[in-house]
Amino acid sequence: MSRIALVTVGDELLNGAVVDTSTAWLGDQLAIEGHDLVLSISVQDDLAAISDAILAAVARADAVIVAGGLGPTSDDLTRLGVARAARVEVEQRKELVELISARYAARKLQVPSQAFVMADLPIGANALTNNSGSAPGIFMVIDSVPLFALPGVPHEMRDMFIGEVVPELQKSFSGAQRYTVILRVSLLGESMISERLGEWERTLPSGVSVAYLASLGDVEVKVSASNSAQAHDYAARAAELIGDSIYAIDEARLPRSTLASAVLHLLRNEGATLATAESLTGGGLGYLLTEIPGASEIYLGGAIAYQAESKHQLADVPEELISIRGTVDAQVAKAMARGIRQRLDSTWALSTTGVAGPGEFEGHPAGTLFVGVSSAAGERAFKVVLTGQMADDRARVRGASAAHALDLLRRCIAGLPIGAQARFITEE
Ligand code: ATP
Ligand code: MG
Repeated sequence: MSRIALVTVGDELLNGAVVDTSTAWLGDQLAIEGHDLVLSISVQDDLAAISDAILAAVARADAVIVAGGLGPTSDDLTRLGVARAARVEVEQRKELVELISARYAARKLQVPSQAFVMADLPIGANALTNNSGSAPGIFMVIDSVPLFALPGVPHEMRDMFIGEVVPELQKSFSGAQRYTVILRVSLLGESMISERLGEWERTLPSGVSVAYLASLGDVEVKVSASNSAQAHDYAARAAELIGDSIYAIDEARLPRSTLASAVLHLLRNEGATLATAESLTGGGLGYLLTEIPGASEIYLGGAIAYQAESKHQLADVPEELISIRGTVDAQVAKAMARGIRQRLDSTWALSTTGVAGPGEFEGHPAGTLFVGVSSAAGERAFKVVLTGQMADDRARVRGASAAHALDLLRRCIAGLPIGAQARFITEE
């Protein structure tokens, strides 16, 4: 385990124009690789600020990462900042001049003279390969601490981190490798999960750790150990204790599963297909499903049946039903699911109708959701009542509604009970 410090560079990170996503991403990746991000400093595009921050980082860490300010414009000062911190000059590198020329030539473009500033490196530094952009990165040892300067553009930063930094950290700080297995839990509170795991956590040997990370309706339980088999063993035990709210078990280095990918996975195993009819989620289900590569083999499509009339026109909900019961209703949710399933001839169908708020609609408070599920076995409908702060925020109601709908579908397909969340969900 090594201690890493990060310096992010850019006025835009401090004046509210751009949200710094690099710190979060690097913190997560470093943890996966068994390192600890112990410090992150954001500075403006200012030479003294950059070199001061680098020296502060060097003083506190085993390795330093700098992100941003490597481009060719006059406000890109990281090259000079690194040189100043190392108390050396910059020099132009012939091989980098050639590399930059070749990149432009390959695209049949004239090299702007300003681009050659990217061929300058502090004396004693090495270039890091940038496969996705033109600014080379910098590797330099300052006061015995290795420093990696990466581009600011997030995808370039990520590629260079994986291609150049990870292997180097592995070489320099070997033996610290950690393996992490991530249990993905839907719609079960962190406190409920930790209650189920509490006793077991107290029996863990010192090399095994458990961490929780909660986001809207979704909790990650990360089980880490010093080898892969151990991480899997302990994760399996934790999964047993948590129960059927777990929708996926991921390896930390592989692409992450989502509720939508878990649902598609179940459907794929059955050779089944899916259609959706959405009211208050307004296409959110379609978005989440089509985010997953290969979704087109399973997800046929759907309708955004938002107004009452559209529920009839697009999903064949009988007009009389709506005139009697309104649109926020279990029968309507069932009819929407049945209608879209018949129209698209899918094995399964999922529908949502409810109140996103603010304020009530048809006498139902914001946060009221009906989910319909249709299959050859018939229709089922569930009422979900989102409460508290969650119900006051339209975006959260819509996000949580999509998550509830997908999780209820997952439970229907897998033959699972509503289970632990039964307090807020009833079958209608
Ligand atoms: P370029 O060659 O594009 O100039 P650079 O290394 O100089 O690369 P910056 O100028 O610092 O990078 O940033 C390039 C782009 O990446 C900008 O749009 C910036 O807002 C964005 N960016 C930089 N740092 C971060 C960060 N920490 N989080 C999110 N976006 C960032
Ligand atoms: Mg720039």
